[in-house]
Amino acid sequence: MADPWAILLIHFSDDDTEPFDKAWYRRMFTAEGAGDWGMYDWFRDNSHGRVDLAGSEVFGWYTLDMKTSEYIGNGQNQDARRDLVIACKEKARAEGVAVDDFAGTLVILNYGRDLFGGGEGAVAGDDGKNLDVSGLAPAIIAQEMCHVYGLQHSKRLGSPEVEYGDSWDMMSSLGPYSSANPAITTRTVRGELAYPIGPGLNAANMWSQGWLDESRVWSPSGETVSERVTLRPLHRRDLDGHLAARFGELFIELRVAEGWDAGIPRATVLVHLFEQGSSWLVADSKGSFEWTAGSVSGAEGMPAAPAELDLGVVEFTVEQIDAEARSATLRFTRTTGRGAPQFMPEWWLRRRWGWEQLETMSAGESLLVTPHDVTRIPAATRFDVSRQIVVPTFGLDDTAEETVTRITGSAPPIDAFLSPRMPDADSEGHG
Ligand SMILES: [Zn+2]
Repeated sequence: MADPWAILLIHFSDDDTEPFDKAWYRRMFTAEGAGDWGMYDWFRDNSHGRVDLAGSEVFGWYTLDMKTSEYIGNGQNQDARRDLVIACKEKARAEGVAVDDFAGTLVILNYGRDLFGGGEGAVAGDDGKNLDVSGLAPAIIAQEMCHVYGLQHSKRLGSPEVEYGDSWDMMSSLGPYSSANPAITTRTVRGELAYPIGPGLNAANMWSQGWLDESRVWSPSGETVSERVTLRPLHRRDLDGHLAARFGELFIELRVAEGWDAGIPRATVLVHLFEQGSSWLVADSKGSFEWTAGSVSGAEGMPAAPAELDLGVVEFTVEQIDAEARSATLRFTRTTGRGAPQFMPEWWLRRRWGWEQLETMSAGESLLVTPHDVTRIPAATRFDVSRQIVVPTFGLDDTAEETVTRITGSAPPIDAFLSPRMPDADSEGHG
């Protein structure tokens, strides 16, 4: 799908310096830079080819009717930021640019006065002096442009307060896993990379935008699953095989240290879910977000259920990761048993895990919460529950109350708990 952007070169009225010629910006942001690690390449690779910046154009320089000192936008003044984008688009319209015909607007200033992205457009700048990492570095500007599409910062389960929780994801940049730009090797005066690239975008974020090629995603074909699946690196469409797996609500992907991901420490399997507008990184049973050979889903130390309950099992394991062969082998298992609920004693929940982990462990199936226990109810089963649903009174963190309300919101009819507990993520903006 053609997704051309309008790139507007803008300066305030009291500073008309032009740090680079227009060809430099075209290389960074349009199809002219194909193969040079600019945004044309980044969006193609990280959207499975769905976002095509062909047709993007660089316009300007244009002079705003505003002095440098008159712009007061910052993180605490989002209104002024939005007003700046609106003023820049207005200026471009007055100059004959059909900005509204473009899929997105990126305002580039002649110095790094601000850096953000939102519904109106994105703003970044670079004065060409290399005093600091450029706001136009692919490792930075890709996130701002993704914000224009509606993507939010990526998170990790267990630490909802951490704004940039997923070091392997562009929506947590500028993180530790960026890497050298093969096309622009400039360093700052302090010796840092001035135009780092990467990392890529995770499968959950791609899916949220309709960018994940689901014809290349493995998912189970029935309720009962026992299958070994080989994954290819998420962004390697050129290789045969599955590029990700979908198991319940979880997105499972392989990333290797090459291309946009050249800065990650080693090949790894990553697991995410998508909720509340963000991707959430999911840990393995030992609490590691970097899944390696031997990693298992779930939570180590979970008490074994009595055998007579004949519980279902929902589990997957990373059997092998072969970075050289660019493949990972996983084993997926799901049995529904005879459908008795899975017992999770309250003490265990309180001592070991929060609600987010518990929801993850449910793998998309339903949870039944009472003051004394939490049960996982396999989706395919029917059984009689006569207990009322009561919001727990024991000490959970602040995020628990909302979750409990959501799970138990339509109590007491038990039917509510036999349907998927998450809102239908397919209903919006996904096709
Ligand atoms: Zn951001």
